Amino acid sequence: MSDRTPMRVTCHCGANELRVFLAAGLEDARRCDCSFCRRRGAMNVSVRETDLQVIKGDALTLYQFGPRGAEHYFCKVCGCYTHHRRSSDNTDFGVNVGCLEGVNPADIDPVPWLDGVSYNPGVKEKT
Ligand SMILES: [Zn+2]
Repeated sequence: MSDRTPMRVTCHCGANELRVFLAAGLEDARRCDCSFCRRRGAMNVSVRETDLQVIKGDALTLYQFGPRGAEHYFCKVCGCYTHHRRSSDNTDFGVNVGCLEGVNPADIDPVPWLDGVSYNPGVKEKT
């Protein structure tokens, strides 16, 4: 059962804003070591598609890579990653913990790592 407290997700410049309900609160916060996430460096939490609403999204842009085609959204003004549609379950999104208003990612410890290298075999796994 998802947490029914709405949370605001904002990029740094404020051009984009989402309203979400976290699927499992901050309990499932994790990092991923795939070739993209290791560069992006953001911790994320799960939000179901029905629990995610884009309030302002004119400055959102999309990045995709590899055959599985997850949708990675970020702000084209300030560059912040806000959320992504997972390729493993396309009704599920990951939301950047650092963009959740009122949450300091430094307060979440330890943070487990997801094995993204194995999930995206052969996709630009240069280090
Ligand atoms: Zn922005």
